[in-house]
Amino acid sequence: MSDIIHLLPDTVANQIAAGEVVQRPSSVLKELVENSLDAGAQHIDIIVRDAGRTLLKVIDDGKGMSPTDARMAFERHATSKISTATDLFNLQTMGFRGEALASIAAVSQVDMTTRRPEDELGTKIEMAGATVISQDYCQCPYGTAIAVKNLFFNTPARRRFLKTNSTELKNLFQDFYRIALVYPKVHFTFTANDEQVFNLEPGTTKQRIAQLLGKTGKTDFYSQLLTIDTETELLSIKGYIGKPESAQKSPYQYLFVNGRYMRHPYFHKAVINAYQGLIANDVQPHYFIYFSIAAQDIDVNIHPTKTEIKFADEQSIWPLLYAAVRETLGKYDARPSLDFDQTDAPDIPTYDPRRNASLTMPSTGYDGYDPFKSSEQRTVDKEQRHESQNRNGNQETRPWKQETGIRNQDIQNWQRLYEGFQSHSELSQQQLIEQDDIALICQLDNKWLLCRTATELVLIDQHRAHTRVLYDHYTTQSGKQQASQQLLFPELWQINIDKAAIVREMLDDIKSLGFEIQKFGNTAFSVTAVPAELGDGNPIEALNDILATATEQTTNTTRQQKMALALARNAAIRAGQQLNATQQAQLLEQWLKTPMKAITPEGKNIMLTISFNEITRRI
Ligand code: ADP
Ligand code: MG
Repeated sequence: MSDIIHLLPDTVANQIAAGEVVQRPSSVLKELVENSLDAGAQHIDIIVRDAGRTLLKVIDDGKGMSPTDARMAFERHATSKISTATDLFNLQTMGFRGEALASIAAVSQVDMTTRRPEDELGTKIEMAGATVISQDYCQCPYGTAIAVKNLFFNTPARRRFLKTNSTELKNLFQDFYRIALVYPKVHFTFTANDEQVFNLEPGTTKQRIAQLLGKTGKTDFYSQLLTIDTETELLSIKGYIGKPESAQKSPYQYLFVNGRYMRHPYFHKAVINAYQGLIANDVQPHYFIYFSIAAQDIDVNIHPTKTEIKFADEQSIWPLLYAAVRETLGKYDARPSLDFDQTDAPDIPTYDPRRNASLTMPSTGYDGYDPFKSSEQRTVDKEQRHESQNRNGNQETRPWKQETGIRNQDIQNWQRLYEGFQSHSELSQQQLIEQDDIALICQLDNKWLLCRTATELVLIDQHRAHTRVLYDHYTTQSGKQQASQQLLFPELWQINIDKAAIVREMLDDIKSLGFEIQKFGNTAFSVTAVPAELGDGNPIEALNDILATATEQTTNTTRQQKMALALARNAAIRAGQQLNATQQAQLLEQWLKTPMKAITPEGKNIMLTISFNEITRRI
């Protein structure tokens, strides 16, 4: 038998490598911009069309390439940045594997022009799927311009894997922020679909943060930032953290090490813990923290697309970081009086991936500067009380202990009855109650509908049941224009520059939900009508929720489904809302018609039942 092992052709090898390096348009942006920075660029223009699917172009004024280098740059393992393995441990540059350009060229059509300042003529190269189509001399400004067109044109499976334009645009901005926040001295512009989204003039880090984040509603970022600055033998920690009162539900949180963005849940926790007692449970602080540490103390041989970085001594850095943040907050020392009043918060806790990080704290025994221990204790007590109230509200409320609205009931009996209630989530749909044999008794505690069938008692969560009804309504009608209700006064929806660009991408979908909404400058939209069901609900909150849910990366539902869920959640009858007899009956009737009665679209239980047999057994 003849030998069967052979080397893969370069084109195939490059496509395989591309799978690692180029996952989406934002990975192309990251690689190209990092190359520009390595080339010493002071001015970088980024131009994208269709969230980078059809065009992603980066123009720099860096040192350019010679004609031979221009051709070499697209070869695999071609790099000017390292030549020996030991160089790996002293890296000052961003990229070093010499894979990026080869990988990008393997899965797109690339046009590049480049000229070194000392050369008279530049070079123009056209590539498609890793093959050179043409190479010529050309007239061009010094520096390099690389246009990546029709990403994944030759790998349809990868193309299909891309998310909606709004999500990909969000990814582009995310990677752009991670770079722009480290290079405040570099002038960046970012143009999406012919509209300039950012023009970031060179300045200080603090100015750059403020330029990027701008004003969000009432928050002017520049005045919200507190400086942190700690030098130790192990590392230096510099940067800015948000004042406690600027904490948000979706804050900006950035950790960098030696100029590179990193994700580090363990250090994140150190920052968050330092805010304990100063902010409410449902918000988190902004932070922009820059570590400088000797190269040998971190694992440099990380994969270019990975943002996790290993440290030799995490346990020692944790308390330093905690203390640095704590000290800054202590100096600021303007503990605002916290308002934990949550009466109009929706009763269904929204999924927050950050909350799931269950990290154990290191036992460092750190006992450093802690300027407000005593006052903190008070706040923490308050917070814990608040937290346990919340828990009760969600899981074990015993409404009969408060005012129930139902008289002449034996409280003891109710309590036993309640304890016998069983969750219905495991039951199949067929076992659920049928429309004809359910009768409404009353609304309980402005929160549940109490009903009965021939054989059991049924408690239905009014907010969740209505969320199910509205969600089914929106999704079955998807694509159709939903009914609107004019607002008496237009509302202004103010958001960040990057979010505004994403909203412009999804404006048609938002309108089809029943919003009438127009662009209002670069960072705002005026809302003149809202979906009919929203009623007196807050349209701005609803829109923020829709935007956040629609651009979530995690679930495998469609954007329309996500938007429908967010709108349903916001428009549904709240817990605490009193319903008259007609409204109760209407809700029950609508809910009974939904095919997935038992759970909300997010998978939460809608009802509890207890059989009369069970009651007899227990009383
Ligand atoms: P790496 O950055 O890891 O070296 P790349 O594939 O990203 O690998 O780039 C290959 C080489 O092409 C670089 O080492 C550099 O010499 C050259 N190069 C790429 N982009 C630029 C640019 N914008 N300006 C000047 N040289 C560049
Ligand atoms: Mg590179």
